[in-house]
Amino acid sequence: MTKNNIFKRDKYKSARGGYSRMLNLHCRKCNTIFATYQKDGPGNLRRLYMDRIMSPEKLVGLENQPLKNIQPLRCLQCDFIVGMPYIYKKEDRKAFRVFQDAIIKRIKKIN
Ligand SMILES: [Zn+2]
Repeated sequence: MTKNNIFKRDKYKSARGGYSRMLNLHCRKCNTIFATYQKDGPGNLRRLYMDRIMSPEKLVGLENQPLKNIQPLRCLQCDFIVGMPYIYKKEDRKAFRVFQDAIIKRIKKIN
């Protein structure tokens, strides 16, 4: 894969100015990376859109599941609950509502 095609490009990305970064999401409690995430546009991470979670595999594609089947988002290492599933009404888009200060985010270097 080249640097140019690893990001998802769609209407959501365009709506946020077309600028994206890949983030490593760390658990606040144990510092383990529990997911990688494509963040579109500026601003804080108050919700994680399910269609932007790029890894691990078990968290990819959750947006295709019925909401009632989706478990709270937990740290894989320590089981700390990071966020709760809900539907972001404005875009009718599945997301996790992130608990304040539950996540440390660091920009992932892409080589
Ligand atoms: Zn943890």
